[in-house]
Amino acid sequence: MSKPVVAIVGRPNVGKSTLFNRIVGGLVAIVENTPGVTRDRLYFDAEWLGRKFTLIDTGGIEFKDETTPLSSKMKQQAEIAVDEADVIMFLVDAKSGITPDDQQIARYLRKSSKPVLLVANKVEKFTRFEAEAHEFLPLGFGDPIPVSAVHGMNTGDLLDTLVSALPEDAAADYDPDVIKIAVIGRPNVGKSSIVNMLLGEERVIVSDIPGTTRDAIDTPFTYEDRNYVLIDTAGIRRKKKISEVTENYSVVRSFRAVDRSDVVLMVINAIEGVTDQDKKIVGYAHEAGKGLILVINKWDLVIKDEKTINKYEKDIREELAFVLYAPTQFVSAKTGQRINKIMDLVEFVAEQTSRRISTSTLNNLLREWVHLNPPPSDKGVRLKILYATQSSVQPPTFIFFVNDPELVHFSYKRYLENQLRKNFGFEGSPIRMIMRKRD
Ligand code: GDP
Ligand code: GDP
Repeated sequence: MSKPVVAIVGRPNVGKSTLFNRIVGGLVAIVENTPGVTRDRLYFDAEWLGRKFTLIDTGGIEFKDETTPLSSKMKQQAEIAVDEADVIMFLVDAKSGITPDDQQIARYLRKSSKPVLLVANKVEKFTRFEAEAHEFLPLGFGDPIPVSAVHGMNTGDLLDTLVSALPEDAAADYDPDVIKIAVIGRPNVGKSSIVNMLLGEERVIVSDIPGTTRDAIDTPFTYEDRNYVLIDTAGIRRKKKISEVTENYSVVRSFRAVDRSDVVLMVINAIEGVTDQDKKIVGYAHEAGKGLILVINKWDLVIKDEKTINKYEKDIREELAFVLYAPTQFVSAKTGQRINKIMDLVEFVAEQTSRRISTSTLNNLLREWVHLNPPPSDKGVRLKILYATQSSVQPPTFIFFVNDPELVHFSYKRYLENQLRKNFGFEGSPIRMIMRKRD
């Protein structure tokens, strides 16, 4: 499912990060929590009145080149907002009125067809502001919504308006039978090369009509009678529009693609190995419960003997120890080596994320597992696992009914997960385990 994206833009010092933190701070309690992964200065998954969205502070986007002039930074931030966001919050400073920088940003935003909410920050006297609001009309976005980010004044009303401007949920993008693939990775790891090779394969038949969902252009295709869609990330097939795409920004793009996908192909450069950004995205895919395949590309550049693959495999596993379930595939988009294995693996992983285990099979085995390795007791109280059931798929989710969830230690949970995997596979798929109290 795809979450709408809301971008905050505005010249420096109007209070973008203050507003961002105010919104994020006020929402933390009700936000679906994915610890450590989506918490970031730049973007945040938020929820208001039951609507989920991703909030981006474009002012937090870092530029590789520190000497980038301010006007060019503002232009790029506005472009990113226009490209990526479903709704743009354009922040101005009520105290200083319109400045040339505000006018410059307004010019970019007016060119887009995206909804823009003009927000006047640093308002101290709301009644007096009503008389001053017309000052901002020349920007071309009507009367601003007044707020004080520092004091949290009127920010609730702002969120109400924001939520009503969000597009309808694009959840039903494609038929549920269609397997959606996101190809993720840092710039230059070879994503477009892999995609082009994949789509050029004999057994792959690309549909003539591209799938369009909102602003993205996806590529539907069939492979051995099954329907797939390749989700377009970072304009893989369009070729990058934004020249200086900065790393922390492309993470946001990747998150969005992961949200919409069933199976994530995480492309890693064999020479560079796993980067922090890779870890972040893999962590996000894991939390989001998506199928995951690690594609190690540029294998042609590695000088190898018969032990090389094992060494690489080991290094990658160490870096990404929390997704030991993800299969690896060493490929070269240059020579085409093993590219033809990718689709079979995608199909296999997609099946694994949708596997259902019957309650009777599960409980017969569970009794054995507990018998083989009885749960340890804690302060004289022993954990009792009464029974288990698989409650859902994508990802496979198991509920264990226990006498006291507090008694389930991390290591015992891991033991149960290992047993599930040993018996049922679930390669490439995360598994969720919920411990529930039952007397
Ligand atoms: P950004 O550069 O747009 O992200 O702006 P910041 O969030 O860093 O804020 C710039 C300055 O404006 C800081 O000193 C803030 O404390 C101040 N500021 C932000 N919101 C308000 C507000 O509602 N009222 C007042 N008086 N000051 C504010
Ligand atoms: P993207 O930015 O991730 O989409 O990466 P591209 O597909 O544009 O590839 C970046 C560069 O790496 C291009 O010059 C490709 O020709 C090159 N490249 C891609 N895959 C391979 C590979 O398997 N081996 C080698 N040697 N070069 C590759």
